[in-house]
Amino acid sequence: MSLVDKLTFESRGARGCSDSNYAFGMTTCCERVGIVDHELDEFYWSSDTPSSSLSLLEGAACPFCGASRWDLHDIVHLDQVPEHWRWACTSEPRPGSRRVRPLSEHVRELLAFCERVAGPVPPFDTTLFLEMNGTAARIDAGWRVARDALFTTTEFAPRFDRLLLAGYAWVNLSAYGIWQEALVIGVERPREATGVPAGLTSVNYSGPPHTPEASARWSLNLDVVPS
Ligand SMILES: [Zn+2]
Repeated sequence: MSLVDKLTFESRGARGCSDSNYAFGMTTCCERVGIVDHELDEFYWSSDTPSSSLSLLEGAACPFCGASRWDLHDIVHLDQVPEHWRWACTSEPRPGSRRVRPLSEHVRELLAFCERVAGPVPPFDTTLFLEMNGTAARIDAGWRVARDALFTTTEFAPRFDRLLLAGYAWVNLSAYGIWQEALVIGVERPREATGVPAGLTSVNYSGPPHTPEASARWSLNLDVVPS
C-alpha cells in the first residue's frame, strides 16, 4: 500500500489521473525525497509547492542538486519520510481519528436520518446533487436553479472529496425531495473557507420540508434553466 494519500496530495495540487498511484521516492544522487506518480512518470519534488513537477521521461536534471545522472528509489517505510512531507501521508483509520469519509457513506447516513425524522423515503431511481449558490431562487415548492449546479453522483463525489479538504467549517447535505424520479440532495457550505483541518469539517444532514399537516413533503419542484 502506498504511503501517499492520493486524495490529500491531489487536493494540494498534484495533477495525476484517476489511475495515478503515488509513492515517495528518494533521489540516488543527493538522497532528497519527493513523490513519484508512477502512472504518468511525474516527479513532485517540492513539499511547499506540491503542484510543481517534472517529467521523468525527458531526462531532466535532478531538481535538487542538478545531477544529470540520477534515479529514484521508492521509500516504503514511514520513518524514512521526512517531516516536511508528512502531511501527504496516508493516515491509518483508527477509532476516534479524523477521517474524511466518502460521499456514499454520507448519503447512506442522510437517508437513515430522513427515515427517522421524515418517515419512509419514497422510491427513486437516481440521486442528483444540487450545489446551492447565489443564483438559486425559491419558487413554489422548490427552486429555480442553473443547469450547471446539478451533478450526478459520479460527477459530484470528487467535488465533495475536495470540499471536505478545503477548510470549510461545515457542509450541509439536505434531502430536498424527489424530482423526476431523482432524489435531489442540496449542498450548502459557508461562503469562506476558514482553514478547518481535513476530517474536521462538520457534515450536517437535514430532511425534506414539512407540510402544514406536519408530514414530510417529498415532491420537489425544480425549474432548471440554462447556465
Ligand atoms: Zn540530486
